[in-house]
Amino acid sequence: MALVPCPQCGKRISDKAQTCQHCEHVLVDDPEKLSTQRRIHRIKKSSSLITHSFLALILFIGGLAYSSWYAESGMGHDKIASQVVALVGLVWYVVTRIRIMMFKREKQV
Ligand SMILES: [Zn+2]
Repeated sequence: MALVPCPQCGKRISDKAQTCQHCEHVLVDDPEKLSTQRRIHRIKKSSSLITHSFLALILFIGGLAYSSWYAESGMGHDKIASQVVALVGLVWYVVTRIRIMMFKREKQV
């Protein structure tokens, strides 16, 4: 029995182990299974990024709609709060778009 570093967390584990005892990363020798695992991981990552950008957009539009609503009724604090929400949504959206862009670039390599 030899000790090998885990590809996920880097801690030493038995080369006979099926899963890492530290991070529960599944160790598969079969390259086909490994690429399937990677593909599933990528699909999960891209769908979570899309969900994030969607939520950010809702936050931005919601904040903006609220802000313009309060602009008419003239309520001070809530207007500022909704503008902050819109700003956070916008920043979050831009960051997520950049992450998606980097993610797609990574795929082509
Ligand atoms: Zn591990």
